[in-house]
Amino acid sequence: MTINRANVSAIAEDLYVWLPPKRGWGLANCGLLASETTALWIDTPYDPSLAGEFLAASRRLLPTGVDIDRVVVTHANGDHLWGAGVLPDAEVIATREALEHIHWEPTPQQQHALLANSDPDSPLGGYLREHFGRFDWSTTEPVHPDTVFTGELELKVGRYPVQITSLPAAHTGGDLMVHLPHQRAVFTGDVIFSSTPEQPGDHPSHWAGPLENIIGACEQALATGAEIFVPGHGPVLDRDGVREHIGYLAYVRERAHALHAAGIPALDAARRVIAEQRHPELGLPERLVLTVAAEYRHLDGSELPGVLDAMGQVALVARELAEDATRIPHPRSGRN
Ligand SMILES: [Zn+2]
Repeated sequence: MTINRANVSAIAEDLYVWLPPKRGWGLANCGLLASETTALWIDTPYDPSLAGEFLAASRRLLPTGVDIDRVVVTHANGDHLWGAGVLPDAEVIATREALEHIHWEPTPQQQHALLANSDPDSPLGGYLREHFGRFDWSTTEPVHPDTVFTGELELKVGRYPVQITSLPAAHTGGDLMVHLPHQRAVFTGDVIFSSTPEQPGDHPSHWAGPLENIIGACEQALATGAEIFVPGHGPVLDRDGVREHIGYLAYVRERAHALHAAGIPALDAARRVIAEQRHPELGLPERLVLTVAAEYRHLDGSELPGVLDAMGQVALVARELAEDATRIPHPRSGRN
């Protein structure tokens, strides 16, 4: 790994978050809930090196003899799931619907091979290398959840209740959120990609949708009464931060519906929303291709495409944006 060390911070009683030091694809937040007898991870880092780093940091925070016995995975994207291999004895918990997503995504070994074998001069090959080349899955085995559920699941970690709720299709078809009432905290997974003026984030990449469900999940997180919201990516938010993110999602939804009604194809609709530059502070604007396409699929009643077809379109638009940035003077700083 070439990124700097992640930052582990205490955010409430016996609750810690592991925040990667930069934004970008695959750098997800993870949680550690500690107690005198057992501990729980909420999500895992993307590759064994990062997961080992989080594991070492977690063990330094735990009393002697206490280990991480359970891992709750907010959804089955590899950047939240694949690090569970560093805890071979832990019980991995996910929604039943997450199993389907595991079969839709490449396995770690397939992704490793894809990176190694793709043509670096093609838009997709270049994009994958630029954004995923920092990870190493050469020795990563697929992770199979031990416990799956739909609806509500309540655990205890020491004296702390952990309330887990599966969501209707949102970021993926199998998301859940974790509410820790004692800590007044919610881990939302990738229902939220956060950004603050001090720590700008990236545009979300929503695979499933519709956006109405993602907005509904944000509202459900607020309805717990929690004060601390840990998104899948980006800085920890307060209640106002979640409300602001709902505003972002509502804007993208409104634009996608208007462009769909005007007969604009999905890819062109995404290009138009990107060109509006409503959130110039956010990185990876090409990810709007995924979110707009997901919304269009709900409006059209069409099927989820293959992951490589979807990423191919993202890579194409990223290349267009990079070419535009070199052609004309741009008001905002160029992204690499
Ligand atoms: Zn993620």
